[in-house]
Amino acid sequence: MSIVVQKFGGTSVGSIERIQAVAEIIARTYEQGKRCVAVVSAMGKSTDQLVGMAKEIHPHPSPREMDMLLATGEQVSIALLTMALHRKGLKARSLTGWQAGITTDCVHGRAMVHDVNTETITTALDQGEIVVVAGFQGISSQREITTLGRGGSDTTAVVLAAALGADYCEIYTDVEGVYTADPRVIPAAQKMDEISYQEMLELAHLGAGVLHPRSVEAALRNKVKLVVRSSFVNESGTWIKGENEMETSHHVSGIAHDLQVARIKVLGLPNHEETLTRLFGLLAEAHINVDIIVQSEHDHERVDVAFSVNEEVGLEARQVLEAAQSELGFAKILYEGGLAKVSAVGVGMMARPGVAAKMFATLSEAGIRVKMVSTSEIKISCVVEREQALEGARRLHSAFGLDRIEVKV
Ligand code: ADP
Ligand code: ASP
Ligand code: MG
Repeated sequence: MSIVVQKFGGTSVGSIERIQAVAEIIARTYEQGKRCVAVVSAMGKSTDQLVGMAKEIHPHPSPREMDMLLATGEQVSIALLTMALHRKGLKARSLTGWQAGITTDCVHGRAMVHDVNTETITTALDQGEIVVVAGFQGISSQREITTLGRGGSDTTAVVLAAALGADYCEIYTDVEGVYTADPRVIPAAQKMDEISYQEMLELAHLGAGVLHPRSVEAALRNKVKLVVRSSFVNESGTWIKGENEMETSHHVSGIAHDLQVARIKVLGLPNHEETLTRLFGLLAEAHINVDIIVQSEHDHERVDVAFSVNEEVGLEARQVLEAAQSELGFAKILYEGGLAKVSAVGVGMMARPGVAAKMFATLSEAGIRVKMVSTSEIKISCVVEREQALEGARRLHSAFGLDRIEVKV
């Protein structure tokens, strides 16, 4: 019998009525003869509320205790959803991440899944039960509770689908699928019927919060069939597919924005081979992800390096480098927060020149200055002032022909 993994996000389980509606979706799937594994997020904004409470008590809460706290959110929803399934007369059992066999590394707050032991889940499925697993959490080899990073329930769903050899993994959310841009910010955005793994991966990394980037990576690596669809309306959603299975490829498929960007400039570094290794090695040791990097040579003796990071870790990155000023030998460090990144993504970009030129022209016509640029074969990203980012994203969406055309009747 085929297995299906269905993930329901915070809004989808945000109230008692929503939990009952989700139980109905699962029941319909079960009645079609599938073996069902549901993965759920914490109800509504409850993770944000838990973070808020922690910050009221301590400005820098211990990462271990944060995981202990945040993991409780998902535990509420698995128990309530399982009760809703029982109420429908269905056999169901809730499992925390660790009961479900999800082991991770020990990096609190952004743990990576190492292994999934599916024994408990398969035993329950064999007994005809629906299994409801808490998303976003696991257990380390030291038996510590860990979480996978905000939005991580998508990743739980995909790794379970991979480990169980599920037919497909459905990500149920509060929009009808993946759009050409965030539909809450750009109302002219259009729902896509399909998108390639590569484009989805770029969009997710570049700020399209509809999927946790690591869930797309895991789906691509393990060839998990993934669909994003609404838990509110019964529509077909967006399938994430291999490029070779796609019928069309657009110039630009989507626009993403990320409003949490900071830039750090390290000026007057010694101009020798090991400088970059040391600098970025220190940041890697502190588990700080660096995004765009620009190096400019002053003269034979000195270089400047500028890089962007997520603003959440911006000050930490500055502190790490300041603490190593004498070791690194730089003259000065400059920090700039309040920035954002707007990006255009599309596999069709590869074959067509002029996308970058059009992007710069569109932004400059809107009076938006580009502070940093990064490109790959299928994306162009520009760092700009945060206040101008949404206007920039809207203009780019229009300029690349992605706006929905209203049909007048
Ligand atoms: P969930 O709680 O179900 O995981 P999220 O809030 O994490 O939901 O993700 C869904 C949200 O992602 C949507 O409400 C939408 O505002 C946002 N989003 C951002 N970019 C996109 C996009 N390109 N397509 C669809 N939704 C997007
Ligand atoms: N509840 C967690 C969060 O809000 C995980 C998730 O929803 O995917 O980030
Ligand atoms: Mg999410």
